[in-house]
Amino acid sequence: MTAPAFLPPGSMLGVMGGGQLGRMFVHAAQRLGYSTAVLDPDADSPAGRVSHLHVRTGYLDEGGLAELAEACAAITTEFENVPAAALTRLAARRFVAPGAAAVAIAQDRAQEKAHFARCGVPCAPHAVIASRDQLDAVPDELLPGILKTARLGYDGKGQARVATRAELVQAWEAMQGVPCVLEKLLPLAFECSVVVARGADGAMVHLPVQRNLHRAGILAVTEVGEGVLPAAIAAQAIEGTRAIAQGLGYVGVLCVEFFVLQDGTLVVNEMAPRPHNSGHWSIDGADLSQFDLQVRTLAGLPLVAPRQHSHAVMLNLLGDLWFAGGAERTPPWERVLALPGASLHLYGKPQARPGRKMGHLTLVAESARGARTTALEACAALGIQAF
Ligand code: ATP
Ligand code: MG
Repeated sequence: MTAPAFLPPGSMLGVMGGGQLGRMFVHAAQRLGYSTAVLDPDADSPAGRVSHLHVRTGYLDEGGLAELAEACAAITTEFENVPAAALTRLAARRFVAPGAAAVAIAQDRAQEKAHFARCGVPCAPHAVIASRDQLDAVPDELLPGILKTARLGYDGKGQARVATRAELVQAWEAMQGVPCVLEKLLPLAFECSVVVARGADGAMVHLPVQRNLHRAGILAVTEVGEGVLPAAIAAQAIEGTRAIAQGLGYVGVLCVEFFVLQDGTLVVNEMAPRPHNSGHWSIDGADLSQFDLQVRTLAGLPLVAPRQHSHAVMLNLLGDLWFAGGAERTPPWERVLALPGASLHLYGKPQARPGRKMGHLTLVAESARGARTTALEACAALGIQAF
């Protein structure tokens, strides 16, 4: 279905997926007076627990999709592995943003890289490996490299670093020979990302460029504010992100992740067809968050350029923090909440596990240095490695 002109508050907005991104979408939608519906099979899903309606079925369940379509005026998605077929089915009855075609490209690293190339945004040298012949034909220049499954990877899962041809063969076999992309291992100086929102009318706005630190393939820290990265690189990243969204005819919130190499070259890594962990700071540091923008693109509300009003540092709170000295614990929230400019976001997940995203903490201040100083105090209080 094509985009409705304007869905008035009081309408029901739906989201495929009940994780933390869905939860923060639900919060933003409800603040504007919308009702919400979440489709997720998990009874304890973070978004399902705070939504007016929780459809508890699988993502391809006919009955579940029909119930969601029936209840909602428009539907979005919060995790990128929601089957594109489910979005196609919903789109036959309701406005769905982002659309299945854009999500299908983002779900496949090979297609995603081809899209970046079409948009004139350079990515890492790579080869697609979907057969023995393609494996044998991989050029030596791509080693050492990172073998990534073309589909279903996240938080560094479905990836293996390979230094030699023998290791490459072994890693591909360990991945059961599924279609993969081998990327050259690049000398990174740092990483950054840009969140863009594009309306059905083609209007685009973006958040400021975010500097990201990953640890063990998982985002650990995002910093946003003056001086966190060179202005020329920031401008280039924004231009590339807009070209990528435009090229997809995208409607909704899209995040594009970049590498900045040691020689200053900007290289696109991947995109997420949804709000992104690196944009969470915008809830506390900007006057419109990435979730507000998601609601606005879905409901046909005006897209106003978000203004960053505070410097911000976001720390991811992984399940590891719930364990100390071999025992389970409650992290010392009282110490963290005593810090000025600290906003604690916990996703309500019943069970902590190492590496699981349980929440995030945003520290805002009037200066980049101030935000960083309190963030380092929070790290010390919680036992997060300093950055
Ligand atoms: P996400 O959780 O962001 O979806 P993912 O599992 O899709 O992660 P990538 O973004 O491909 O994984 O890679 C995770 C991290 O590994 C990157 O942020 C970067 O730190 C490192 N990395 C990935 N590819 C390369 C590369 N070609 N060269 C150097 N480092 C890389
Ligand atoms: Mg990534």
